[in-house]
Amino acid sequence: MSDFRIHTLGCGSAKPTLRHQPSSTVVDYHDNLFMVDCGEGAQIAAQRFRLKLNRMRHIFLTHLHGDHVLGLPGLVSTLGLAGGGGHLTIHTFKEGERILNEIFGFFSRDLPIKVEFNVIRPEEAVVFENNSITVRTVPLRHRIPTVGYVFEEKEKPRHIDRRMCDFHQVPVCQLRNVKNGSDFIKPDGTIVPNRMLTSDADPARSYAHISDTAYTPSLAEKIGAVDLLFHETTYLDIHRKEAKARGHSTAREAGRMAALCGAKRLLTGHYSSRYKDDDAFRREALEEFPEVILNREGLTTNV
Ligand SMILES: [Zn+2]
Repeated sequence: MSDFRIHTLGCGSAKPTLRHQPSSTVVDYHDNLFMVDCGEGAQIAAQRFRLKLNRMRHIFLTHLHGDHVLGLPGLVSTLGLAGGGGHLTIHTFKEGERILNEIFGFFSRDLPIKVEFNVIRPEEAVVFENNSITVRTVPLRHRIPTVGYVFEEKEKPRHIDRRMCDFHQVPVCQLRNVKNGSDFIKPDGTIVPNRMLTSDADPARSYAHISDTAYTPSLAEKIGAVDLLFHETTYLDIHRKEAKARGHSTAREAGRMAALCGAKRLLTGHYSSRYKDDDAFRREALEEFPEVILNREGLTTNV
């Protein structure tokens, strides 16, 4: 099992149906959970798919439409009721902070959970960072201010070759430097080049979450050549005019975007409730891009 994976809680759009729930995705990085959007029912879906939301400290909102936000009051109440004095940071626009503060202030005021806000803007910025990953925003083109999020692993240390390090008597206190690429200088001044003591680091992986947006080719450069691209596929090509007017994309356009970015794989989603055959999204995107994963609730995708 990969230590960087994406759990889909909801991949429907505005209108929930018996087949699809509104938007919510959980990024699981080494058992630290990050939620992107929290549509209605997200907490129930998380239980159903056995995700431990007490391991979640960050929620990233793409925009303030109900199908991406309305699961939050219930989720925050539940996390509060669970006790343990948790804390949660919600990344959203100024307006989101104002509205949600009021809701939590009323419904969760006596609960032992601390909710903080990181106010973001609809422009490119790094909004979260720890020792292993960064999360940055990409401005999207929807009917209201909207951002996508790109989760990127930081460059990783090189792999130590234990046998060679023992052979050259590298002291433990030097191992970190060697992992970070330094040569080892022996007490007699001999230099042991780093490549003799280490092998290449694992490549840094990346996931982009792009919802909701009209198809915008110039986005490709901002997203970059990610390992996994979630790009909304609200509509099919026959409704491309409506897609454009509503600030959404078709499956064909999502396929084109994956190709333009140089992404390795495309994950579909945010399906309009008008379509009954989900596989049509996959088939249409496949005409533009070869690696398409058809999204559904409960799906786990390794990055
Ligand atoms: Zn939406």
